[in-house]
This record gives sequence, C-alpha cells and structure tokens, in this order.
Amino acid sequence: MTIYSHSRLEAFENCPLMYKFQYIDRIRSKREGIEGFMGSRVHETLEKLYTDLKYCKPDSEEELVAFYNSGWDRNWHDCVFVVKEEYCAENYREMGERCVREYYRHYHPFDDGRTLWLEQKVVIPLDPEGRYRMTGVVDRLVEKEPGVYEIHDYKGSGTLPDQWKLDNDRQLALYHLGVEQALPDVREVSLVWHYLVFDKEMRSRRTPEQLEQLKDKVISLIQTIEASESFEPRAGILCEWCDFPELCPHRKHLFAVEQLPPPEFKADDGVQLVDRYAALKEKKAKVEAELEELKGHIDEYCTAMKVDRVRGSCNILSLSRKETPRFPEAKSPERRAMEDLIRTLGHWDEVSTLSTFKLGKAVACGAWSEFDATQVDQFLNWEETVALRLKKAEQREE
Ligand code: SF4
Repeated sequence: MTIYSHSRLEAFENCPLMYKFQYIDRIRSKREGIEGFMGSRVHETLEKLYTDLKYCKPDSEEELVAFYNSGWDRNWHDCVFVVKEEYCAENYREMGERCVREYYRHYHPFDDGRTLWLEQKVVIPLDPEGRYRMTGVVDRLVEKEPGVYEIHDYKGSGTLPDQWKLDNDRQLALYHLGVEQALPDVREVSLVWHYLVFDKEMRSRRTPEQLEQLKDKVISLIQTIEASESFEPRAGILCEWCDFPELCPHRKHLFAVEQLPPPEFKADDGVQLVDRYAALKEKKAKVEAELEELKGHIDEYCTAMKVDRVRGSCNILSLSRKETPRFPEAKSPERRAMEDLIRTLGHWDEVSTLSTFKLGKAVACGAWSEFDATQVDQFLNWEETVALRLKKAEQREE
C-alpha cells in the first residue's frame, strides 16, 4: 500500500510528470530553490526555540538569530538556486532573519499554551478498512486546555492567501484528522498558519462534515493517481522551481544551453533552428506589412488612372471592388439578435455550418461525456499536427 502525503498529492496536481520523476522513478535531485532553503532554516530555528523552552532554556532573540545564520552557512550548497533574478541569496537570508526576529517579538514569552508536538510525523487514516492512509509532519501542536488543540504551520511564502483558500486548505485539515487519530480527548481543533514574511497569523476550523468530505475527495484523488498510465508534463509558473529541468521535455533544452558560453550557445543545433525560424517569421510579418502598404498604393494608382488592370514585366494585376458585409461581434447582443432573427426566418440551416474546430476541441479535451465522444469518434480520422509558437526569451549576457 502506498502511503501518500499532502505534498505528494500536490505534486501530482501541479504536474503529473514531475510527480512521476519524484515519486515513481524516485529520482533524487540536489537542486533546492532558495525559498525552500530559507523556509527550512526558519523551521529549524523555531523548532530549536520550542525544544529549548521544553527544557526550560529560553533563548534570546540574538541567540536564535545566530542559530539561524549558522544553519544558513552550514547547510548552504552549490545547488541552491534563485529564480527571481532581481534578488540575491543575501536578500533571502535577511528576509529569513527578519521572519525569526518578528516571530520572536510577536510571541515572546511563548506562553500561548503547551507545545505537545514539534515536527511530529502523523498518520492519517482515510477509510475504516485502512486501504488509504496518509502521512504528514505537524510543525507544532499546542494544547490550549484539555481537549482543545491548535495545529500551527509556518509558511515562508512571499504572498498572503485569502481566507477562502485557508478555509479550503487540504494540508492542515488532514493534520486535523491525524491529531484526532493520535489523541483520544480531542474536542476542538484550530488550524493556525503563520505567514512569517508578513508576521501574520491566519486561522480556520473544520466541521466533522467537512472532514468526511475531505476524506472522500482525497481517496478519489489517490484513485485517479493510481489509475494514471501516462504522466504528462503540465507546464506552468512552477516549472521555474522544478527539480527536474534536465529531464523534462519542456525545460531540457533551455536548461542545457543556459550555461553554455556564447560561441557554443550560438553553435547549438536547436538554437540555430529557432533563430532561423524566428528570422523567417519576422521577415514574413515585414513582407505582409509591405504587401498591405503596396496594395494601398496600387489602389490609389488604379483610381487615379481610372484602370482596373495594370501590366508588369511578367504579370498582369487585376483589381476588383465589391461591398462586403461586416457582422456584429461574436457573442455581442446584436449578434445574438441577428442569429435569432435568421432562425425565425427559417434560414439558419442554409447559412450555418458545424465548427470542426470546436468539435475537435470538445472531443479531444474531454468536454463531452465519454459516450458522446465515442459516438462522434467513429467519423474522425486522427492525424498528428505540429504547432510552433514563438515567445520572447530573456536576453543572454554576451
Ligand atoms: S519543468 Fe514543468 S512541466 Fe516539466 S516536469 Fe517540471 S513542472 Fe512539469
């Protein structure tokens, strides 16, 4: 039986291919985003704070900051990477230090309840038969009074979520189930997030009904994962932080040529193909603009000369004019009114045709039920087409 975690489920939701690299192929990457590196150092520091308190050894703010900084130096390695080019590692180190200081000042003397767990692993049962189980690590569990608990989670995120997101958050709700499983006297559980970068505490609660629904949803997601046969890449903003750029078809070439010196970069086959394609596209756009301009001049010439055919060295150019109707914009109220009128007049079938583009999209994207799609599929022949899309890349330093 595979035991899942919130991060494992999240990896699948974000990108099935990344999930495969990490959890099925079990590829270990040395790469570590600086945000995660900073988060780990802050977590260790807060863990030390509460561990020392348990042993009646309160730390001063300066002692904690020194611990944070020495952890930063001790753990630093060459594979920590910074995505946001406008910031450097030192900016992140300072930001983490500020998180520690502000947390210390906010919660000192740390008497908000009794800390029962620190970085504690929990097992979360999802069904009575024990077929589906999850695991997770609770940053800190606090007992406010007998049976009343708070699950605290530290976040180093640079953005603050809205309350709705937290009211629907899966991670801490799962930990709630883990706490109920571990402690028989649970009467009340609060979920508490510390958004350290903002020195902001946010809270939420779950009802028993919500927890039941959560179990069903998570079981259904696990079943989807286990039934998956192809793990397609799902490119998005998180690609920049992906641990497997050298393996993913979406990033592999970009990653490979990124570090090349200029001559080798220019000599790369892929770079040359894209450069040629981009140059031709640019030329095509220029030629199209020139043709439009020339068309205007020819029109003026024909009007001035009162002719509709003009002789060139090897060609004869004919010019014709006709009035063409312009229709109201698609989906506008006028367009709808016009379409209704045509239907009322009984001419709709004469002028409307099936949109094969929309049909292809509906069948290919699973917008229709499997039954409907299969019925239509018998009339279709599938063939592979290649689409190319150019996007400006950041300039390399030469
Ligand atoms: S680079 Fe993007 S698409 Fe590729 S595996 Fe990573 S997250 Fe997925």
